[in-house]
Amino acid sequence: MTPLVELRSDTFTLPTESMRRAMAAAEVGDDVWDEDPTIHRLQERAAEMVGKEASLFVPSGTMGNLCALLSHTEPGEEVLVEGESHIFHSEVAGASVVGGLQLRPLETPDGRMQPEQVRAAIREPDIHQPPTGLLCLENTHNRRGGTCLSGAQTEALSAVAHDAGFPVHLDGARVFNAAVALGVDVRQLTGPVDSVMFCLSKGLSAPVGSMLAGSRDFIERSRRMRKMLGGGMRQAGVLAAAGLCALEEMVDRLADDHRNARRLGEGLQGLPGIAIDLARVETNMVFGDCQPPLTAAAFIERCREAGVLLDQASLYRWRMVTHRGVAAADVDYAIEAVRRLFGAPATAPLRATG
Ligand SMILES: *Cc1c(COP(=O)(O)O)cnc(C)c1O
Repeated sequence: MTPLVELRSDTFTLPTESMRRAMAAAEVGDDVWDEDPTIHRLQERAAEMVGKEASLFVPSGTMGNLCALLSHTEPGEEVLVEGESHIFHSEVAGASVVGGLQLRPLETPDGRMQPEQVRAAIREPDIHQPPTGLLCLENTHNRRGGTCLSGAQTEALSAVAHDAGFPVHLDGARVFNAAVALGVDVRQLTGPVDSVMFCLSKGLSAPVGSMLAGSRDFIERSRRMRKMLGGGMRQAGVLAAAGLCALEEMVDRLADDHRNARRLGEGLQGLPGIAIDLARVETNMVFGDCQPPLTAAAFIERCREAGVLLDQASLYRWRMVTHRGVAAADVDYAIEAVRRLFGAPATAPLRATG
């Protein structure tokens, strides 16, 4: 069988042995009644790690973000988001459909909004305009390349919102990737914002779930929103047990994924008709642009035939994501397999771990 290198997403990570053992042994209760001890432990630990009063286990990052938007705003308000943000691009307009919110996208080259740009986008009191109700940040920024927002940048952006009297939500699906890449405690990235969502189910390898963290009041409101959205779960401590392993055992190893992404980006440099901006490879993602007429879909299909799976970002853009299921040898395999598609000679023997 041809070995496949799975580079479509870090959501393909499988639970570890340690997670499966913890799940089997988890002490559980009815979490809608707030009686699941393992959920309690996870929520306390997660809140402590990101430096917030409380947190809430949610089935997905999308639901976590939506709970946050609903808890922070009133219908008819405007929410400032980055133009390629996950909330704007990939959450099925839930903010508008469920929250009655208008999303206002602000364009950036690299996912890092400028404080002045945000200040200029804040609405004046005016009968014609929807009041600005929330600023959303994204760290790492997925569709802009897995780029990081530093603690200082997060602080400066949050100050603009706070000065104008509205809160800040951080879509931190991969905020631990950012903390590891920047070499800082994650609290430097979450401290300035009012709420943060992060995913257990991506690079941290848990099978299911995300955390939403913030003040006690905010989490109390979000708990109601989660129930309204159908996200109240019963003996979900079985899942929380894996989440606890993710937080205790899986954060530091994200550095391996970042090293592998860089190796991948460097190895794929210089192929004819493929542009990779290595400067954007800050964490576990490599984006590339095909030159027309070669479309991303056609490139992805050829890679699949060569045993390398990647994801489409837009008509000409593709994405590769490294994670625990991709070893350095798999990266080398992928590089050589893709280079051969372009007639570039293999430089190393081909061997994939699976
Ligand atoms: C994956 C992701 C989410 C949502 O997570 P799901 O669990 O897939 O709903 C939100 N924001 C960003 C930036 C993401 O990459």
